[in-house]
Amino acid sequence: MNRKENLRYVKEHSFDLLVIGGGITGVGIALDAATRGLSVALIDMQDFAAGTSSRSTKLIHGGLRYLKQLEFGLVNEVGRERAIVHRLAPHLVHPDKMLLPLVKGGKYGYWLTNIGLSVYDLLAGVNGKDRRKMLSKEETIKAEPLLRTDILEGGGIYAEYRTDDARLVIGIARTAASKGAKLLNYVRADELLSATDSEKGERITGVRARDLESGEQFEIHVSCVVNAAGPWVDDVRSLDAPVKGKRLFLTKGVHLVVDHERLPVRQTVYFDNDDGRMIFAIPRGTATYIGTTDTPYDGDKTEPEITREDVDYILRATNNMFPSVNLEMNDIRSSWAGLRPLINEEGKSASQISRRDEIFISERGLISIAGGKLTGYRKMAERTVDRVFKQLGRQAVACTTDAVQVIGGEFADYQEVEQFIDELMREYQGLFGSRSDAEYLVHTYGRKAKKVAARAVGCENSDCSLFMAEAAYTAEHEMVLSALDFFERRTGRVNFDVVSVQKHRMLLLNVLKDKLGWSEARHAEESRRVEEALERVTLFRKSEVDC
Ligand code: FAD
Repeated sequence: MNRKENLRYVKEHSFDLLVIGGGITGVGIALDAATRGLSVALIDMQDFAAGTSSRSTKLIHGGLRYLKQLEFGLVNEVGRERAIVHRLAPHLVHPDKMLLPLVKGGKYGYWLTNIGLSVYDLLAGVNGKDRRKMLSKEETIKAEPLLRTDILEGGGIYAEYRTDDARLVIGIARTAASKGAKLLNYVRADELLSATDSEKGERITGVRARDLESGEQFEIHVSCVVNAAGPWVDDVRSLDAPVKGKRLFLTKGVHLVVDHERLPVRQTVYFDNDDGRMIFAIPRGTATYIGTTDTPYDGDKTEPEITREDVDYILRATNNMFPSVNLEMNDIRSSWAGLRPLINEEGKSASQISRRDEIFISERGLISIAGGKLTGYRKMAERTVDRVFKQLGRQAVACTTDAVQVIGGEFADYQEVEQFIDELMREYQGLFGSRSDAEYLVHTYGRKAKKVAARAVGCENSDCSLFMAEAAYTAEHEMVLSALDFFERRTGRVNFDVVSVQKHRMLLLNVLKDKLGWSEARHAEESRRVEEALERVTLFRKSEVDC
């Protein structure tokens, strides 16, 4: 609710640092810089996390496949980061066991996988019961009876973490705000401002920005600008100077969502496709999602299109590994596509390009950070803010974000999260249809789940009282400005519970209208956008008809 206040503040004050981009990279940098005592503003031209950071596989993982590429340093860093991110937000980043089936003709056999998973555990510092376990063929079938048995040779189980990427961004954004950072969604950087410094020559001193809600243009004055614009990093770099040398290479990754009962996997399965790539099938609530693809992309970056080819690829791979389920186009309930902002490497295919991050500093001092992973956001932020201190000519203060709990995540461990779910069930008896409703609320809002539940008490629409309470809460506390901010990123329902959106959207739109003071025209426009989004998630079906 303090967006207007933030806007006014940003116009009237100058800052040490402006971050362009409110994905995981940008909010991570804002939090790190604010906790090290810098004054920070952050803008995003869309909603927070509307870029790649709500469109990932939603795993906080060490990246087993990077081991195949012999990227030991990367596996070591992100592998260790997993445990830290889990500790900082145990409600949002939960431990998850992955089943890795081994098949005839697969790239690596039983022993190589055994060694690989051991090295993975070692690099990532995994101990005790979480260490990898190798399974015989019979044990693998018992763990996942849906697997294709004729080519199965055994399996491995290893530990990773699951998350909700957009919620993680919102949690970190709120934490950064609590440390004094001023964050604004729907504000676009259109131009970079500069001035001549007698010692350093021409330096960037801010941006000319536009508030996309009101259309107003204004300037933000700062000492240092960080470009964390994900797939748009080169667009922002080109506001500074023509992009030379290394540039971005975008690859598209598609995920499909089906009802869990159509692909009732018992745990996450990470399986081989016949082209040598690996695919995830991940159960989440009443859904299972499957992905991903990895193909070069140069189309619209805001809403990357999902083609029939993408869908056929994932369905074929899934039906090949789980032959009894026989998934069809009509089973798909939802989908999403994200763009990996990778750094081009001549002669390498999309899947071979490193996922490492890299910092570029322009002659006029624009710091751009590209590449990387959700999992490694904290380390990326640390490296970037170290450069910011250098640029400001100040002695760097040490990074302390490994001890900054994400708002809502004030739990000692996952066991305490479970206890809190039980407590919520007891305190709000009758509000939850099942434990999974309470679990959803705690996994989404952490300790703030009680505030949401309290709002739902006494609501006349018992059918969707919690859903309505979420709308009111997120409009007040999480800078929801449009209906899709709520349906797509604050709750993930367009992807994982599309039926509830179809059923209750009018009631929810009314809650948001009241909270946000929308006119009738805006209400109608928001309603149209929700319809469009509901159509978009299965739009690829249309191309079948057109063909
Ligand atoms: P983004 O999230 O895209 O944020 C950039 C932001 O900049 C956008 O919100 C955009 O609106 C804003 N912006 C752009 N231009 C401007 C401007 N001029 N003014 C203001 N704002 C601007 N990583 C993992 O660790 N685990 C995974 O499971 C995983 N799975 C993945 C699966 C897929 C399919 C993909 C594509 C990626 C996956 N990744 C994963 C990688 C991870 O998602 C990305 O590395 C990360 O989300 C990138 O975040 P970002 O903040 O750099 O970019």
